[in-house]
Formats: sequence, structure tokens, C-alpha cells
Amino acid sequence: MDKNNTPVQKLGRISSNYIFMKREDMIPYSFGGNKARKAMLFFEEIVRGGYNCIVTYGSSHSNHCRVIANMAASRKLSCYIIQPDEASDMTFNSRMTELFGAHMEKVPVKDVHDTIEQRLRELKQQGKKPYFIPGGGHGDIGTQAYVLCYEEIREYEEKHDTRFGYIFLASGTGTTQAGLVCGQLLYGDERKIAGISIARKNPYGKEVIAESIRSYLSLKGFMLSEEVLQSRLIFLDDYTEDGYGMCSSGIFETIKSVMTDYGIPLDSTYTGKAFWGMKQYIVQKNIAEENILFIHTGGTPLYFHDIDRL
Ligand SMILES: *Cc1c(COP(=O)(O)O)cnc(C)c1O
Repeated sequence: MDKNNTPVQKLGRISSNYIFMKREDMIPYSFGGNKARKAMLFFEEIVRGGYNCIVTYGSSHSNHCRVIANMAASRKLSCYIIQPDEASDMTFNSRMTELFGAHMEKVPVKDVHDTIEQRLRELKQQGKKPYFIPGGGHGDIGTQAYVLCYEEIREYEEKHDTRFGYIFLASGTGTTQAGLVCGQLLYGDERKIAGISIARKNPYGKEVIAESIRSYLSLKGFMLSEEVLQSRLIFLDDYTEDGYGMCSSGIFETIKSVMTDYGIPLDSTYTGKAFWGMKQYIVQKNIAEENILFIHTGGTPLYFHDIDRL
């Protein structure tokens, strides 16, 4: 396949900084986003290993579940999705996931783990070969996807003779951030990569990302001191509001203005929350005279979920 880097777009200024956006939402598959980038690598593994069905999990807001269900359907593989009851309000993502014929099972969040184990066991007993994808496309394969994205960012910088001093993004499981930081470490680049947490708090949120980075780099045989690792980890938990999917009027204002000014849809669960958090952080930390890259991690169907509240 041809290498098609996602576009980088120059937006406006925040204080004396120039804001750029890398449009991962423009990945040409199922509304794009970081879950599409990760899923393409997972499916390479699935094809290579001859797996014939897929098990994964996520909430009804999950972009991951929509993309996986779509890819599974297009390859005629059956797909089993376990969904926590607590986050099962209907969204365009969950409606599409159903449309793709995924087997959806809602269970209390405490039973998600056991249900997955049970489903995998049953499928094997039926003579099938199931492949399990962790929620959100977490794991070394997901991390690898964002090392490749990091390389695209470096290519852009080289081609346009520019440099991003900061990279901001919405962080959930932290896999996307882990991949970008692994890229930074592998190339020895000086810059700040800041994940705006959309739900998790520290120290847990940060530790999960650290673990993803250790896992990936040890796989690559790259030696890393704990000190360097910790110095590269910026996971900001000040902008989570009251948790996953929760948001305030400031976030809706941000979504409305980014759509109005640039024609770019954000959503209140992920990218809108992160863009809003980034804006505050830049001002609070007096960041000045920098080129700043915001990664648009996708989630376009969720924009429509929010529209009545804009
Ligand atoms: C899943 C998701 C994220 C978070 O990605 P992680 O790799 O889990 O941190 C951010 N933005 C969007 C739109 C997502 O769907």
C-alpha cells in the first residue's frame, strides 16, 4: 500500500504560539481516528495468524468497537463485543457497531473480564480461533501504530523545515501517547508530548503509559533508564471534569468554535476535552513562541452525538 501520511493543518494562534493539527480523523477508513490506525495493524496480525473471529470490549461511546466491528464485517469475520452496562447509552458509534452485525453483550463492568474469558473459552471449544483485542487497541501493536505516526510527524517537520516544541493529544488508555513517546525516545528528540487525560487520574494513568513504553521498548531491545522515561511522561489529569464522557460548557464552547472557525469536528468525550484542556494549559504555563501540534485522534461520529448540546 502507498504510504499516505495524514494531513497536518495550520490553524490559528493561542497567545504567541502557532497551533497545528494532525488530522488522524482523516484516515480513510470508517471515519478514521487513532482506532483505525491501530486496527489496521491488529488486522495484519489477525490475517497472518489465521484467526477467524474477534473478541474485544468497550463502552457505547467507543470508537474502537465501531472500527473493529467494521473491519471484521468487511472480512466476514464474526466479532464479539463486551460492553459495560454502566456506559451503554446509545450513540452513533454503538448503532454502527450493531449495524455491522457484531454480537453485543452488555454486562456489569465488574463482570467484563470474566465474560471475555468465558467467550474466548467457548469459541475455542466450538473449534474457532478467536483473536482478542484489548479495549481501545491497547498493547504493543497499538503502540507500534503511533510510533509510525511519530515518524510521519518527523517527516512533516523535515519537509517544512519546522519543529514542534509541544505535541498535545487526548489520552485514554494512553497507548497513543505511549507510541508517540516511544518514537521520541527512539529518535532522541527534545520536545514535550503532553497527554490530556480524558478520564484517568495520576499516578495510575501515568503508570499505565510507562508500562506500555517499557513493554514496547524492551521488545525493540532499546535500553531505557527509569529517570529518562519519567522525564518524558506528561499526563495531565486536571482537565478530566467528572470522568469519562463528562463535560462542562467550556468544552462545548470549544467544540463550537473549532467547528465554526476551521470546519473541524471535535467531540466532548475525547478531542474537544483535550483541545479545551490544551488551551488552558498553554495559558496557565505561559507557553510562548512555540509551534504546537495537536493530534486530532478522531471520533467524528461522536460530534453528532453532541450536536444537540452545542
Ligand atoms: C480512544 C480515543 C482516544 C484515546 O486513545 P488512547 O490510545 O486510548 O489513549 C483519543 N481520542 C479518540 C477520538 C479516541 O477514540
